[in-house]
Amino acid sequence: MDRLPPRNQRSFTNRIANSEPSTNAGLQTSLRYLQGIGPKRAEQLAGIGLLTVEDLLYHLPFRYEDRRRIKKIAAAIVGQEESFVGRLVALQKRFNPRRRAQMLTGRLADDSGVIGLVWYRAPGFLANRLTAGQILLVHGKVESGASNERRITHPEFEVLEVEDAVDPSARAPALAAGSRSRISPAGLPEGAMDLRVGLHLPKIVPVYLRPAGVSLTLMRKWATQAVADYAAHLPNFLPRSTKERLQLLDLPSALRDLHGPAPEAEVAALNDFSSPAHRTIIFDELFYLQLGLGLRKKNNRARAGVALPRQRTERLARMNHLLPFRLTGAQKRVLDEIFADMESATVMQRLIQGDVGAGKTMVAWYASLRVIDNGYQAVWMAPTELLAEQHFRSLKPYADGLNVRAALVTGSLPAKERKASLELAASGAAQLVLGTHALIQEGVEIPRMALGVIDEQHRFGVVQRLALQRLTGKTSAGSLETSAPHMLLMSATPIPRSLALVLYGDLDVSILDELPPGRTPISTKVYGDKARREVYALVLEQLRRGHQAFIVYPLVEASEQLQLVRDATQMAEKMRTGAFKEFGVGLVHGRMSPAERDDVMRAFRDGKLGVLVSTTVIEVGIDIPNATVMVIEHAERFGLSQLHQLRGRVGRGSAAGHCLLINRAPGNPLAAQRLRVMEKQHDGFKIAEADLAQRGPGEFLGTRQSGLGDFRLANLARDTRLLLEARREAQAWLQNDPNLESAESARMKEILLQRWAQRLQLGTVG
Ligand code: ADP
Ligand code: MG
Repeated sequence: MDRLPPRNQRSFTNRIANSEPSTNAGLQTSLRYLQGIGPKRAEQLAGIGLLTVEDLLYHLPFRYEDRRRIKKIAAAIVGQEESFVGRLVALQKRFNPRRRAQMLTGRLADDSGVIGLVWYRAPGFLANRLTAGQILLVHGKVESGASNERRITHPEFEVLEVEDAVDPSARAPALAAGSRSRISPAGLPEGAMDLRVGLHLPKIVPVYLRPAGVSLTLMRKWATQAVADYAAHLPNFLPRSTKERLQLLDLPSALRDLHGPAPEAEVAALNDFSSPAHRTIIFDELFYLQLGLGLRKKNNRARAGVALPRQRTERLARMNHLLPFRLTGAQKRVLDEIFADMESATVMQRLIQGDVGAGKTMVAWYASLRVIDNGYQAVWMAPTELLAEQHFRSLKPYADGLNVRAALVTGSLPAKERKASLELAASGAAQLVLGTHALIQEGVEIPRMALGVIDEQHRFGVVQRLALQRLTGKTSAGSLETSAPHMLLMSATPIPRSLALVLYGDLDVSILDELPPGRTPISTKVYGDKARREVYALVLEQLRRGHQAFIVYPLVEASEQLQLVRDATQMAEKMRTGAFKEFGVGLVHGRMSPAERDDVMRAFRDGKLGVLVSTTVIEVGIDIPNATVMVIEHAERFGLSQLHQLRGRVGRGSAAGHCLLINRAPGNPLAAQRLRVMEKQHDGFKIAEADLAQRGPGEFLGTRQSGLGDFRLANLARDTRLLLEARREAQAWLQNDPNLESAESARMKEILLQRWAQRLQLGTVG
C-alpha cells in the first residue's frame, strides 16, 4: 500500500491552502495512508472530522483512566471510589415501563470475589454494549447493597477489548504484549479467573472520542503512530523565555505526553486539562492568536486619525445643560477614554461594552459632539431602520437645541427625502448622519467624516466596518485625505473578558459597568407551561394600566419554523378575540418581509398595539419605555445572554418591568436550573460568564461569529488565565520586534500566517 500521497495531493483538506512550508512535511497527509488505516477506516474517521495526520495529532483524549490503582474485589472498601477488573457474569436486562428504560444488573467477578453492578436507567446503547462474559474495567463508589453484598451503582466502565487481541498487528505499542494472551477471543477466562490484566495494561489510559466500530485500542494505536512519525514535523516555536517562565514543553513532546502519558504522570491534571502538556498546547494556540491580533492592532494604529483637540467644546458644554439627567460615573470615564483617543494622532478603534440600558447612545452622542464642535461630521450606522429611526428621534431634540443638522439615510425613505439627506451628507452640511447599511451601499461620500459609530456592532462584519470608515472619499475638496475617521463600536450585550480579548483583541475596549440610577431590576420569574393563566393575568393587569407587552418565541430552524409560526399565529388570534381584545395584538414572524415587520413594529412603538407577538428575535436595541412586560415562550431554548438582552427591552421607563419566562421543558432539570439564574442575576457581565461556561464559545456567539472561537483545545471559559498570559507574552514580543524581523520572529511569522492569515485577514504582515 502506498504510504504517502504524491506531493500535489497534499492540500486535501485545504486547511492550509495558502502556504506550505517545508517544515510541514506530511502533516496534511490523508489518514488513509497511515499504516493500518486504509480507505474504509479513513472514511469512518472523516465522520468525526479527522481527515489528516495533523487532525489526528490534535485529536486529544478527552479523559484518562487511572489503572494504577486497580484493586482486588475482595479488598473493596465501602464508601470509596475504586477500580476493578473482572468478568461480567449474571447479567440481567429488564425493561422498566414506569421509567421507560432498561434496568441492568450484573456482577463482576475476579479471582478474589464478586461485586454487584446496577444501572437503574440504562440507555439503549449502553444495554447493547454489555454482554455476559465480557471483561470489564469498572470504576465507581462502592456501596453496601442488599444482604450485605457490595455493589456499584451506575459504574463507569470500559469493555477491555477482546477483538484487538485477534489481530496481532493491531496491538497498540503502548500496550504491553503480555496482556493479550490472557484474554483470547475464543476462550474467555473461565471460572476463578486468571485475571492479571491489571498488571499488564498501560497504567494511564487515554480515552478518545471515536467513530462507532473503531475500538479504543485502535484509536490509541493510530494516535501513537502519528505522534511517532509526524509530531516532530509540526511547525512549532515559542520564545524560550516564555517557555521557561510558564514551564511549557515543546509541542511534539506535549503531544507525545497526551497520547501516551508516562506512568508517573498526574492523572488529575490530565483530566482537568491542566497538565504541562495541555497547558503547552493551549498556550501555543492562544499565543499565536494574540500575536495575530496584536499585529492587526498595530496595523490599525499605523494610520493617522483626525486630531480633535479639547479646546473647542461649545456644544459639549451646552449639552450638559440640555441633558435631563447626569451622566453616570462610567459614562464619564468612557468618554474620557474616547476623548484621549481623539486627541492623539492615531486613529481610534474602540469598542464600548456595556450592559443593556447602560446608556451607550448618550456616550456616542457626546463623542459626536466633540467631532462636530471641531467642524467635522459624525456618521452612525445601525443594523435596522427602526433602530436608526430611534436614534434619529431621540437625538433630534438635542441636535435642534445645539444647532446641529441631522440627516437620516435609510432604504425605505421616499426617494426625494433620501436624495435630500444624501446631499446634506455629501456637502458636509449635515454634521450628524444616521442610517442603516444603506449608507455604505449608496456610494455616498461624507467628506468631513471624523467619527463612525456602529451600533449593535455584532450585526456587522469587518468588511462593513471598513466600508463605513472609507466613506470620507478620496480627494474631494475639503476631505480629510490621509487621516482616517475614528471608529466607535457599540456592543449589544456584554461578553466575558476572555472572549472580548479574542474577538476584539485588535480593538481598545471600554467598559460601561454602571447603570443609570433609579433602575429597579426587572422582576423575573420562571413559569411552567401550565401556569399560562397566571402569566396572562399579569399581562392583562399591565395592559389595563396602559402599558404594553412583548410575547417572544425563539428563533428556530427552518424545519420547526412553520410549526412555531402556526403556534404564534394561533396564539395571537386567540388573544385578539379573547382576553386582550380591546388592546390590539400585533404579530411579526420570520416569514414576513422586513418592511412588513417594520410596519407592525412601528405600530407597536407608537402605542397602537398593546401586545406584540414575535417569532423572530426582536430588535435588541429597541427602546419602548411604555412596554413593561416581556413574556418569553420556550425560554429554555435561549441562551442566558439572549434572555438578558430581551429582558432589557422592558422596564426602561419609570414603571417597573416584568419578565416572565415560560419553560416548556419541565422534565429537564438542567434547563430549570439554568433559567433560575435569570431570576436572581441581573448583571449582564455575570450572566454572560455563566452563559459562556455553560454553552462554550461557539454556541455563545452563534455560529456566525464562532470562527475565532474554534480552538483545538483551548476553552475560553476555562483558560482565561492562560489567555491573559498569552496576550502579555505576545505583546511583549511585539514590543521588542514590532515587525517580526529577527530570525526567531521569521519562524513565528510563518506559523502565524499558516494558522491565522485567513481568519484574521492579516494580509501581508510586517
Ligand atoms: P444601551 O446602552 O442599552 O444602548 P441606551 O443608550 O438606549 O442603552 O439608554 C437606555 C436609557 O437610559 C435611555 O432611555 C437613555 O436616555 C437613558 N439614560 C442614558 N444615560 C442615562 C443617565 N446617565 N441617567 C439616566 N438615564 C440615562
Ligand atoms: Mg443601544
